[in-house]
Amino acid sequence: MNCPFCGYPDSRVLDSRPSDEGSVIRRRRECPSCKRRFTTYERAQVEPLVVIKRSGRKETFDPNKLLRGLTLAARKRPIDPAVLQEFAFSFEDTVKEMEITSEEIGLRSLAFLKELDPVAYIRFASVYREFDSLENFIEEVRKLEGQSAPKASETEEPANLDDEAKLGTV
Ligand SMILES: [Zn+2]
Repeated sequence: MNCPFCGYPDSRVLDSRPSDEGSVIRRRRECPSCKRRFTTYERAQVEPLVVIKRSGRKETFDPNKLLRGLTLAARKRPIDPAVLQEFAFSFEDTVKEMEITSEEIGLRSLAFLKELDPVAYIRFASVYREFDSLENFIEEVRKLEGQSAPKASETEEPANLDDEAKLGTV
């Protein structure tokens, strides 16, 4: 740290103490050349979270983008938009690492939606998990239905075009 008075390229720390509830470190310094004293404040620079996409490309995490995905999945469902906003905008704080894969964001979002609403969960899953077949997708829907409703009888109509059309709407 250069002395602000004479420009000497070094200074001696006399005292170091946290202030502002520890987010800032205050250092009292003395210039060994001109002997004048000054104070420096050290604050952590919050680095934006980096998202590693499937393609390997990296981009800065955007909570609005996550919120858009969640909102789309929650469309016309009895979900308080504030709950989605809270999740999207506090997401970055829950990640300790500097980087996260888009897949991991998807998985965490799925875990969140699973607790919230089964339909929103499935909609989100269909996009983020990229079911490798329609069968897998239907299987996942069935598992959820089995959790929230009495088991469907075997006489239920088999999957047909009508069901596919319904799935297309989610
Ligand atoms: Zn000086």
